[in-house]
Amino acid sequence: MAKKQFKAESKRLLDLMINSIYTHKEIFLREIISNASDAIDKLYYLTLTENTGISREDFYIRLAVDKDARSLTITDNGIGMTKDEMENNLGTIARSGSLQFKEENADKMEGKDEIDIIGQFGVGFYSAFMVASKIQVISKGYGQDQAYMWESTGVDGYSITECDKDDVGTQIILYIKEDTEDEKYGEYLQEYKIKGLIKKYSDYIRYPIKMNVEKH
Ligand code: ADP
Ligand code: MG
Repeated sequence: MAKKQFKAESKRLLDLMINSIYTHKEIFLREIISNASDAIDKLYYLTLTENTGISREDFYIRLAVDKDARSLTITDNGIGMTKDEMENNLGTIARSGSLQFKEENADKMEGKDEIDIIGQFGVGFYSAFMVASKIQVISKGYGQDQAYMWESTGVDGYSITECDKDDVGTQIILYIKEDTEDEKYGEYLQEYKIKGLIKKYSDYIRYPIKMNVEKH
């Protein structure tokens, strides 16, 4: 399937983030986990009005690391995304308002590190590109039969293809960048580091955050 381009404004912010020397790259995990929690909230609200067969205790967010593949996977059993939702929600970057803020305040920002704005306002899903060279989002929307995979390596666009997934919900697979002389991305594949980030940024999340511990 042909690659689709990000919308222009998304591309600018994406460029900015990927090439940034932003020191708070670690906030990506907060953003991904908060999205998982939001998705669970949405399905939980449905359970209050519809007979979904799901109870509150069933919800969870799970993190798993595969050191060989350099992947960090965040799975939730929230509401998931349809193909259209993937297209609309993951193809547009400026959802959380940070870009709009930047544009409105451009004159006051002269000389300031643009990236500070990203840090203050949170930039959502795309912040994961600060630490990941490739992202796959595998999702099955509530009430849908078909699951889809959104895949992107960043600025060069994204693709959406059909895939298999039994359960409703979303799986985000982050392929963590290789370590370089200046940047130690590999720490995002370390259990202690991930646990530390969860404690620091995601303590307020109301659903259980489980971590798959590696056996070897
Ligand atoms: P925001 O959370 O401010 O809307 P994000 O960039 O963090 O912006 O996320 C964009 C959108 O992508 C979300 O609003 C949601 O529709 C969708 N999304 C992201 N992660 C998930 C997920 N785990 N499950 C379902 N939808 C998601
Ligand atoms: Mg978000």
